[in-house]
Amino acid sequence: MLIPLLVALAMTAVSFTLVGRRLLMLYRIGRAAQPVEPGRVGGGRRLAAALRAELVEVLSQRRVVRWTGPGVAHAAVFWGFLILLLTLVERYGALFQRDFALPVIGRWAVVGFLEDLAVVAVLAAVATFGVIRWRRSPSREGRASRFFGSHNEAARFTLAMICVEMVTLLLYRAAQVATGYFPYPDGAFVSEWLGGLLEPLGSDVLDVLEPVAILLSLGVLLAFLVFVVHSKHLHILLAPINVALARRPRALGALLPVHSGGKPVDFDDPGEDDLMGRGKIEDFTWKGLLDFATCVECGRCQSECPAWNTGKPLSPKLLVMALRDHALAKAPVLLAGSDAERAALPADVLAEAERPLVAAPADGGVVDPEALWACTTCGACVEQCPVDIEHVDHVVDLRRHQMLFESEFPSEAGVALRNLEHAGDPWGGGASHRMDWAADLPFPVRVLGEDGEERLPDDVEYLFWVGCAGAFDETAQRTARAVAELLHRADVSFMVLGEAETCCGDTARRMGNEFLFRELARANIETMDAAGVRKIVVTCAHCLNTLGNEYPQFGGSYEVVHHTELLARLVADGRLTPTERVDATVAYHDACYLGRHNGIYDPPREVLATVPGVRLVELPRNRERSFCCGAGGARMWMDETTGTRINVDRTDEALALSPDLITAACPFCIVMLTDGVGTRRQQGAAAEHVEVTDVAQVLLRSTANSQAAGSQEVEP
Ligand code: SF4
Ligand code: SF4
Repeated sequence: MLIPLLVALAMTAVSFTLVGRRLLMLYRIGRAAQPVEPGRVGGGRRLAAALRAELVEVLSQRRVVRWTGPGVAHAAVFWGFLILLLTLVERYGALFQRDFALPVIGRWAVVGFLEDLAVVAVLAAVATFGVIRWRRSPSREGRASRFFGSHNEAARFTLAMICVEMVTLLLYRAAQVATGYFPYPDGAFVSEWLGGLLEPLGSDVLDVLEPVAILLSLGVLLAFLVFVVHSKHLHILLAPINVALARRPRALGALLPVHSGGKPVDFDDPGEDDLMGRGKIEDFTWKGLLDFATCVECGRCQSECPAWNTGKPLSPKLLVMALRDHALAKAPVLLAGSDAERAALPADVLAEAERPLVAAPADGGVVDPEALWACTTCGACVEQCPVDIEHVDHVVDLRRHQMLFESEFPSEAGVALRNLEHAGDPWGGGASHRMDWAADLPFPVRVLGEDGEERLPDDVEYLFWVGCAGAFDETAQRTARAVAELLHRADVSFMVLGEAETCCGDTARRMGNEFLFRELARANIETMDAAGVRKIVVTCAHCLNTLGNEYPQFGGSYEVVHHTELLARLVADGRLTPTERVDATVAYHDACYLGRHNGIYDPPREVLATVPGVRLVELPRNRERSFCCGAGGARMWMDETTGTRINVDRTDEALALSPDLITAACPFCIVMLTDGVGTRRQQGAAAEHVEVTDVAQVLLRSTANSQAAGSQEVEP
């Protein structure tokens, strides 16, 4: 075995050299990028979270197996390859010593069985992938295919390589069985069967076949390794690292503050060189670049994206791929040691380096501005991504540079921004109209400061955060009134800020205007801290997210509950008793910022389930796979002229259930769905009787004549 051994060592050396050079180059690109924000790496808690993620996300393949067919196939390949690492040691061992066996476990029949089973599982998985890729290929499904835009040739080549690797692996094992050097006396059912077929070849042939098969299988594997680090299959190496370094629990909920040089930017005294978002590829942190390099191109994000599904140019997958390809193409410029070295680079590389990061395709942009501003920040991509890529953070970071540095943003967004600056709300209603919503209520709503008090009195349990929608949008005003009435009936004491409330800042932040967001957040925190606020109830999913998850970044820490959580508790505690029948088929739409971003799925359903007569029907895309209404990410304030309208698409999904009521628990969703129903009505669709309403209003109808019970404190 001396010659095969030397050949194997030479192949290994060549492969490792090529792989090492590539990995070093990737590492140097990462070094050229921005440092990560504090807390991303290091620390005991971070390590514990990373280990847990490795177990839950990577080893268990939890996120992947949610997509049953391809998920199970992927898990089979992953676990199969883990088991087959043992055969790698056995192959190298056999070149040194023909009857090599793994120490301790190497002659145990169970191990031989598992290795053969792994080969069968991997081959079955590859066949499954082949069928899925054929059935769902872009040539058959066009843009609807989740593989649209992926490097499908490379994927097919990979499947072929895996097949060849499995076949050569079986060939060497079968030859070993036939020559009598196979370490396992039994258990390896496929190898033994194939070995029996090879036996008639005779020992002379088998003595040659065995090392040749080992070299072939090692050669394919080593070539595959080189291919992996030069292709999108780099994820095989990078995914565990990316998962370990991902934001926990997920990159949903709060956005990160603007960071530059690994530190949050001090907007009161910004440095001259501080980055305001990402304007060049090297402005991303190395974790950002790691995200881009880790993309599997599986298209799970693309298939869930509301923008992509309604014909917009935005696909989270294509966005990530474009940024990755640009980073790799620009790498020689980033890594050039001197101006002279840079100037000597090929013209196409220099041209790539000059491409603007965000500009129209005709102007050579890496990211199309129309795609960038089409994002609703719904988080469907983050939710689905099996390797924990943080799309929403990257989108907002790109927007921040456009907004704060280039002053480039959709003109309609400017109207909302001006309203926020001058009136404190995107509607432009103004502080003096903030209490209009409460005018017709049959009881007085207590407003902080109205009776001269500066702090919430001791008998007040909740600050009712009305929100800009609740204050100024007609449909949301109805929800605000319904919630106020329900709280009043349940004897829950609450107060509102009235004119002292300003926009929570969600719209400004998701547009990328961090400066304005900070101003709004600070003003609100100052007001609430001065008033001694501890517990807040909100009716808007965006307010919930901003007050609960983002205000702590600025020192404002409160216990924030969504009205459906509080109402569900009040009903469960017997303080609200739905008695009147509401005979209706009710469809419930999960708001992205309530569900995916904050994990609140059950309370709205629990409230509806308590109402007599309600027949709750689920939309096909529900809970974590809910389809956005189209209003998030400040899209509420921008025109939607490309493709079909997201809200109409979602409305159609609800109308297909023939509901009497379409419910939601976020005023933005209700505005969008109401608009969707209106559009279909105008077009003559049978939606005449369908009403869009908040969950609270359904509960209010059912409790219309019931008495409030008790006056005990609501348990948090
Ligand atoms: S956040 Fe939503 S809209 Fe934005 S890219 Fe992801 S899936 Fe698409
Ligand atoms: S970003 Fe994530 S979900 Fe989207 S294609 Fe890449 S790996 Fe798949």
